[in-house]
Amino acid sequence: MFLSVKEMEHRKIRFDETFEAGRIDFAGEELEQVSPLVVAGSAELVAHSDSEVRIKGRYTVEMAAQCDRCLAGARFPLDAGFDLYYRPTSFIAKEEEVEIDEGEAEIGFYEGGGLELEDVLREQVLLALPMQRVCSEDCLGICAVCGKNRNEVKCDCHANTAGDERWGALRGLELNRN
Ligand SMILES: [Zn+2]
Ligand SMILES: [Zn+2]
Repeated sequence: MFLSVKEMEHRKIRFDETFEAGRIDFAGEELEQVSPLVVAGSAELVAHSDSEVRIKGRYTVEMAAQCDRCLAGARFPLDAGFDLYYRPTSFIAKEEEVEIDEGEAEIGFYEGGGLELEDVLREQVLLALPMQRVCSEDCLGICAVCGKNRNEVKCDCHANTAGDERWGALRGLELNRN
């Protein structure tokens, strides 16, 4: 759904949308939208501003990713609100020399005649997900010795726990590199 600034010049745009599972593209993020994303909110021009747009609302969605520890599927139900400000990119050119103060760090930018609601939502979902994507806080991960998922199989490879930890750290490094 395109949120047109031209339209906002006449009235506040209200939206109440459902994006079917998979509709929002998370390609390259190793993430999947597994439930419909339901969002409601509004988009309007900020009074007495230079085409600054305010978009606020609330959404729910369930995302799926691979667990960082055991590599099985992990689910992340999200239910979050947002209140965002966007300025036209032309504003950057004008204010190039002006330092953006702390309080304005939250401001985004848009190009052309407006913003795609899908793009706004994709960014919000990525921000809302935890840094470490685990299927559960108690996930035991994969056994470094036999390679079995320790949540499912109780293996007998406890001889060298220190070794396990070293492997875990190595695996973490590999994940960070990707
Ligand atoms: Zn796990
Ligand atoms: Zn094992």
